Amino acid sequence: MKVTYLCPKCRGAINAANNIILSAKTSTNTVGLILLHEEIGNYTSTLSSSLTIEKGEVVDLFCPVCHESLNIPIKDALAKYIRIDEDLNESFIIISRKYGEKITFKVDENKHVEAYGEKLSRYIDPEWFLQK
Ligand SMILES: [Zn+2]
Repeated sequence: MKVTYLCPKCRGAINAANNIILSAKTSTNTVGLILLHEEIGNYTSTLSSSLTIEKGEVVDLFCPVCHESLNIPIKDALAKYIRIDEDLNESFIIISRKYGEKITFKVDENKHVEAYGEKLSRYIDPEWFLQK
């Protein structure tokens, strides 16, 4: 079975054709879709034609299925969704909402945290990942 990504709110699948599809809104209220490569640590991304994001800009991310926010409601600019791997293990994936910032965390059911991408330039409390 292939890897599936789910919205934590509606558990609708948010990946297709090797991309995770997220709805985005910028600080200037521009909206569109962001396609992220589904492979962890691959930071290839594509924006739909209506969306322009400056490097370093923080965007709000939403589920494309139910439109609920995927933002983690704390000061840090992070978002969260669910990954189910080939063996049906479920984990949370946490990504930065700062465009161009290559930070990913994977938190499994035992709260084991794996970090991918760039080293953290700012402090992030692992407990924040698991807040609702
Ligand atoms: Zn949803």
